[in-house]
Amino acid sequence: MGKMYLSDAAAPVRGVVGGTDRDRAARFRDRYPPAAKRNLYIRNKILLPNRRPPVNPTRTEITDAAATNMEIKAMAQEMGAHVAGVAEFDSRFAFADVECLNHRFAVVFGIAMSYDNMADIGPRSQDEVHRVYHKLDDIGLRLAHQVAAYGYQSAMQPNEGDVPLIALAYLAGLGELGKHGSLISPELGSSFRLGAVTTDMPLRADRPKDYGIDEVCVKCGVCTRFCPGDAIKPDKKVINGVERWHVDTPACEPYFHRLYGCKICLMVCPLNSRGVFGEDYKRAAKVLVRTKDAKGMLRLIEERTDMHYEDFD
Ligand code: SF4
Ligand code: SF4
Repeated sequence: MGKMYLSDAAAPVRGVVGGTDRDRAARFRDRYPPAAKRNLYIRNKILLPNRRPPVNPTRTEITDAAATNMEIKAMAQEMGAHVAGVAEFDSRFAFADVECLNHRFAVVFGIAMSYDNMADIGPRSQDEVHRVYHKLDDIGLRLAHQVAAYGYQSAMQPNEGDVPLIALAYLAGLGELGKHGSLISPELGSSFRLGAVTTDMPLRADRPKDYGIDEVCVKCGVCTRFCPGDAIKPDKKVINGVERWHVDTPACEPYFHRLYGCKICLMVCPLNSRGVFGEDYKRAAKVLVRTKDAKGMLRLIEERTDMHYEDFD
């Protein structure tokens, strides 16, 4: 992340879910494999309607915010999160369409996506994304219940919830923004997804950390080379008060839809080699050397999945 000019920042505006072409987004969702559809059903119909639990009127007063930070993060990890941190939260961080979120902190957590499943770039990768989102929402809901039982307001924040998860995860010290527009974790590389719980419980916030990731992105550009939509921009830009990497979303969208939520940029990122997916990435890297660029990658995906991506609109 580069310089921040937050006094100039306005509440972020969310992207249109599934992209700007509603019909194409609907066709994209129709092609979800059955397991992905089941996970989405459970999230939308059962978990999300309950994401703001009732608050226990008998409050446990927090006398040691630092100890409570550790306790809540440990809870998230016991529930199955692989990484967790706490970010200070300001209501201006919520999306512009969110009415009022007077919460002070966000507990942000991540779960790894199996690298091999993600690297499939076909239906298997989409199943993996929805498996992980379901698990994140399940953890978030249970964690929100725990916080509410202490006597504080809480809300489980799914992907597409009230807040931009990547920004909060950065503030919580979980990683740095990569050139491909996703967070990169020192432990999980680019192969993970995020969830959060926002609350008015007094906690001590963690801080953003320099893991040396931004410096790698400045010199790297592997994701730019392999992106079939030419959507990953080589230079940073100031967006809403923050100098950062950015992706041309309309250029990404057609491939995102054709390739089951395309994750080529996450898969090829060499920072996957630093953490738990080191061995998986080494095997993939040999293939990447042979495929060379976006065209080679698309040929490989067609061979592997028997999917003719150009047939999809
Ligand atoms: S592929 Fe390279 S440039 Fe792209 S996000 Fe990963 S490290 Fe950064
Ligand atoms: S998801 Fe695919 S098309 Fe979109 S930025 Fe990443 S590699 Fe490019």
